[in-house]
Amino acid sequence: AKLKEGLSKTTQNLTGKLDELFKGHIEIDEELYEEIEEILITGDVGFETTLKIVDMLRKNVKKKSIQDVKDVREELKLIVEEILSGDDSNLKLEPKPAILVIVGVNGVGKTTSIGKIAMRLKSEGKSVLLAAGDTFRAAAAEQLEVWADRAGVELIKHQEGSDPSAVIFDAISGAKARNTDVLICDTAGRLHNKKNLMQELAKIFRIIDREYPEATKEVLLVIDATTGQNAINQVKIFKEAAPLTGIILTKLDGTAKGGVVLSIKSEQQLPIKLIGVGEKIEDLQDFNAKEFAKALFS
Ligand code: GDP
Repeated sequence: AKLKEGLSKTTQNLTGKLDELFKGHIEIDEELYEEIEEILITGDVGFETTLKIVDMLRKNVKKKSIQDVKDVREELKLIVEEILSGDDSNLKLEPKPAILVIVGVNGVGKTTSIGKIAMRLKSEGKSVLLAAGDTFRAAAAEQLEVWADRAGVELIKHQEGSDPSAVIFDAISGAKARNTDVLICDTAGRLHNKKNLMQELAKIFRIIDREYPEATKEVLLVIDATTGQNAINQVKIFKEAAPLTGIILTKLDGTAKGGVVLSIKSEQQLPIKLIGVGEKIEDLQDFNAKEFAKALFS
């Protein structure tokens, strides 16, 4: 219910427009396909992905001899579901110990997501340790501390301006000493200084590989759905800087640009692991292709 509610603006923008189109169209003709294409592109689905979807749609309509526009809608839903699905979309934190590195530009919802994940893991009975790897912004560590307190987990932090990889080094030692199930590391997100950011992240990952090779590693990029196709640019940049294993897509609740989900999965080949559909703790949800397609097309 929350997913459907959270996606309502996107649904209006995509399915709402599609349904208008289907209402006024009886024939399954070239014009119909072109209009579907336009709706998808303006709905932030992305050019390449849109062409792929419409191409699949044409083929399936032909193959299944679909005559009724209503069935075209159903076919579209199945294609969306197919594009979004994959068995890689759950957080992989086993075998223990696990390390979860969170990257992304400032303001996308990194700290909030870390806090929500920490609370969830804690409530599942896992032991969690946080690392304040964004040493650039004093507020970042403070905010993380608030979440650590709320979740009842420890936080490893250094002084503002210190070397982030030293924080990660200490946190790994701490996790080993405490036998921590999941170590969650925040990182800085200053995209205006791309070279520094890249070097900083590279150093962090060298430390992790050297000091914690036994850990199950997830590297998640947090992006803000309200930025639509711009979020895709961030995916491209961070792909160069970090060994990404998935995406956390936040703020889907505030945007009509949720179609971007399809671009990420189809063009960037990265699984969406978690989606944010609101500010509450339970609003950071596991991504499920079937449920997502259902919420979009219900
Ligand atoms: P950071 O700079 O990346 O660490 O971003 P923050 O975690 O501080 O989040 C920035 C703002 O986005 C905060 O006001 C959060 O409450 C808000 N936020 C994060 N995730 C979501 C979400 O899924 N939905 C909504 N509506 N707001 C969110």
